[in-house]
Amino acid sequence: MILVVAEQKDGKLNRASWEAVAAAQQLASGSMPIKIAVVGQGVSAVATELAQAAVAEVLTVEHASLGVYTPDAFAQALQQVIAQVSPAYVLFPHTYQTRDYSPTLAARIDRALVTDVTAIRTGTGAPAFARPMFQGKLIADVVPQGPAPYLVTIQIGAYRADAAQKGAAPAPIAVAGVNVDESKIRQKPEAPFQEAKQAVDLSQAERIVSVGRGIKTQENIALAEQLAKAFGAELAASRPICDNGWLPMERQIGSSGQTVAPKLYVAVGISGAIQHLVGMKGSRTIVAINKDADAPIFEVADYGLQGDLFELAPAIIAELAKA
Ligand SMILES: Cc1cc2nc3c(=O)[nH]c(=O)nc-3n(C[C@H](O)[C@H](O)[C@H](O)COP(=O)(O)OP(=O)(O)OC[C@H]3O[C@@H](n4cnc5c(N)ncnc54)[C@H](O)[C@@H]3O)c2cc1C
Repeated sequence: MILVVAEQKDGKLNRASWEAVAAAQQLASGSMPIKIAVVGQGVSAVATELAQAAVAEVLTVEHASLGVYTPDAFAQALQQVIAQVSPAYVLFPHTYQTRDYSPTLAARIDRALVTDVTAIRTGTGAPAFARPMFQGKLIADVVPQGPAPYLVTIQIGAYRADAAQKGAAPAPIAVAGVNVDESKIRQKPEAPFQEAKQAVDLSQAERIVSVGRGIKTQENIALAEQLAKAFGAELAASRPICDNGWLPMERQIGSSGQTVAPKLYVAVGISGAIQHLVGMKGSRTIVAINKDADAPIFEVADYGLQGDLFELAPAIIAELAKA
């Protein structure tokens, strides 16, 4: 049995959960049942949404101490769920939250954890979990050792959310009862940083226009903003743009920034260094605008526009205004 731990915040499902469901369905190959657990408080609407998936069951894991996220409470609760359902694998989307608590959980139950998995190789023998190493220069195929369950986090964008198979009828929803010992919660969460700043979560964006050093000056960022607006997209950037302080760090895409998988990623004046590509190559459709025909970004692009961005971007904005 495979357990997928879906992620929600304030009753809103993180769509990377669907990507983890798609990964679980590939791992199961139709021969292992899948259950989805959703942890928090007031998660019934999210459970109903997840019950559309072709899975055996959705489990709600609710407790007053799980309403506000803490790694200790989540690890306590999930340890009990794992003991109740005895899965062979536990899959999580590789989010900031699971990055935080999954090592704690793995240590508590003394089981193997494979993080940031980009592909699952099934066939003869035990499944291997592919994960990038050394900033994406190598891919290691990891076969976890020791007793099950094996804990696996799935990189955002490695699987497509819309590839998750839906069931003919909604899956049953059941309650997984857990106790959380509040005296064992060592963290005292403060008000969420993201909400206070109203920061953007690019991993949830459906369209992204990303700008690189080809934009040349801080003043020209306005052109990228106009292009993003014309597409109805979020604005992101390569590292030099954020290092220069032309856009905030939270908008950086890549190995030291965010990993994203939008439906549309428009790379404007970005060369396509490996550290950038690892953050966006899972995007469904990639459009690259670059004056250099040999720029590596064209190797991952579905549509390449070779030319001067200062001519092409205004032309695209004008065309989109007509649409
Ligand atoms: C440990 C480490 C971590 C890193 N992490 C990240 C990361 O998270 N994210 C990231 O992005 N980078 C990261 N980098 C940096 C990365 O190696 C590259 O240096 C960076 O991605 C390059 O950014 P760029 O493509 O904007 O700039 P450049 O490589 O300078 O490319 C600019 C591109 O713009 C094109 N261009 C110029 N003028 C025009 C024009 N008028 N019209 C059209 N095209 C034009 C050029 O042909 C060129 O291809 C990291 C590096 C290291 C060592």
